[in-house]
Amino acid sequence: MSTQLDHDDLYIGGEFVEAASRERFTAINPATEEAVGSIPESNAEDVDRAAKAARAAFSTWSQTSGAERGDVLTRIADAFAERAQEIAALVARQNGAPHWWVTQNIRITEAIYRNGAKNAAKIVAEEVLPGGENGTVVRKEPLGVVAAIAPWNSPQALLSMKVAAALAAGCTLVIKPSPETSLDSYLLAEVCREAGVPAGVVNIITGGAETGAALVAHPEIDKVSFTGSTAAGRAIAISCAENFKALTAELGGKSAAVLLDDADIETFTASIAWRCLPFSGQVCHAITRVIVPRSRHDEIVEAIKTTLTALPYGDPSDPETLLGPLATAAQRARVEEYIRIGLEEGATLALGGGRPADFEKGYYVEPTIFTDVDPSMRIFTEEIFGPVLTVVAYDTEDEAVALHDATDFGLSGSVFSTDIAHATAFARRLGTGEVLINGKHGAPNVDLVRSFYKHSSIGGGMDLVPGYQLTKSIPRG
Ligand code: NAD
Repeated sequence: MSTQLDHDDLYIGGEFVEAASRERFTAINPATEEAVGSIPESNAEDVDRAAKAARAAFSTWSQTSGAERGDVLTRIADAFAERAQEIAALVARQNGAPHWWVTQNIRITEAIYRNGAKNAAKIVAEEVLPGGENGTVVRKEPLGVVAAIAPWNSPQALLSMKVAAALAAGCTLVIKPSPETSLDSYLLAEVCREAGVPAGVVNIITGGAETGAALVAHPEIDKVSFTGSTAAGRAIAISCAENFKALTAELGGKSAAVLLDDADIETFTASIAWRCLPFSGQVCHAITRVIVPRSRHDEIVEAIKTTLTALPYGDPSDPETLLGPLATAAQRARVEEYIRIGLEEGATLALGGGRPADFEKGYYVEPTIFTDVDPSMRIFTEEIFGPVLTVVAYDTEDEAVALHDATDFGLSGSVFSTDIAHATAFARRLGTGEVLINGKHGAPNVDLVRSFYKHSSIGGGMDLVPGYQLTKSIPRG
């Protein structure tokens, strides 16, 4: 029996201080529907305190060398690695992510901090470039105080991308995780303390959209790095524009797999758990649209049905489980609403569509497949963020490209073919910044650089060091 974790504090200026707000949010374990713990819904006073602490720390942190900041990031990676199991378990208790997903994400998080350390050490703060009478001094200066706002599906990994790039560049931060996964951010605060991050360089406040909006609008915030839904990204972009704040935003997706005529079905079905429905489809790059040659449609639908029916399903803490519950009751309601919309739009339910009979508790929805889907349907174009696949048939490859690109998103795509040259040529035509071939990434490491197209980001969306720097040029005397 796990104990409930109740926090009334926030991590500000290197200390755990009592929140001014009395409003609270309770995190619920989506597999058991029991309370895991509660956190403050930070108010304007809490936001102000955290932003001012980050500003005060900026004056000294921004003057440190890249090498010094790299050492701090290495110590964060070390301290994080020490607590990795504990952090992973707490994340999973709050968002119901299957063991495989959360462990993979925690491993990636440590790698991101180590990569940030390397990037910090490589920073050339000042150099003389040709140009002008005696050359030009070009300086890279840290941009300022950053607000880092993350969603609940990979809370630590997504925050680490922001923290690693911002700290490497010499910026200070106010972090606001999603309220559904904030309890683990107290462990991140402890990691920062253990790593000797100077007071005020990393501050962590908790709360929901209202807290986030107040943080974005705070005058001490110079840049916002946001990962979350396209709708929230739009609201944040409008707020940033009003005050000329820099913004990096990684947003939603509705990614597709295109199976070419010669695709190997087993290669595709073997990737379904990891690529189509990771964390029950609650991942921005989940490949939830399947675009198939008309001649192979029925064969492929049968293979997907067989695969989904056999996927180990249930308790997310069981290492064998591939599909668990949805993260919140609201998320389940959203997915069920989309299933209702799909039926109303005239699509055919080829599998699932309901709540599984075997669980008395937990926000479970059966793995679901829709066929007879028209590309104009909302289930084909809108992000459902759940275990719902839509299958559409094409007659020509031009039509397959058009179907792939028939949404406002451009986050990730996937091509399946036994002819790699053909798959690569086809991938070049797709409107997305990342294409997997036969379920494999181009560079499965933390240095992977790509843009998220269309409404999946604002300005590309990657958290890279140059996005946290300003450049100054001065004539050399
Ligand atoms: P969300 O947009 O509702 O919330 C994300 C975060 O933003 C939370 O911390 C929330 O409290 C905060 N927030 C919400 N409205 C805000 C506002 N107006 N101002 C400031 N902060 C605000 O998203 P979610 O439901 O937590 O996560 C799911 C979404 O995240 C999906 O759309 C998914 O595709 C996206 N996502 C994208 C990526 C990516 O890398 N592109 C990665 C993971 C998740």
